[in-house]
Amino acid sequence: MFIVSSVDIQGGPNEAPEESDRYPEAAVIVKHAEGEKCERCWEISPTVGQDPDHPTLCDSCADIVKKTLCSCRKIIFSTLSSKTVK
Ligand SMILES: [Zn+2]
Repeated sequence: MFIVSSVDIQGGPNEAPEESDRYPEAAVIVKHAEGEKCERCWEISPTVGQDPDHPTLCDSCADIVKKTLCSCRKIIFSTLSSKTVK
């Protein structure tokens, strides 16, 4: 229904501020989302910058990147150890 970073549903249409777009069943006001834009997924999220290791990423991308790095390290490690064995 909404392709936005966040949606707040507040009160009834009659309580909407003057600058909102009014529809028969709702009034909509579009504001910039709070937070920073994540470098990886481009979502604006207040969680961007919370991870000191990945200050330009949101929390879910920081998690994914950490997991990806872990598996990369495993591959590098296994390659190195197999070379050492030979
Ligand atoms: Zn992200």
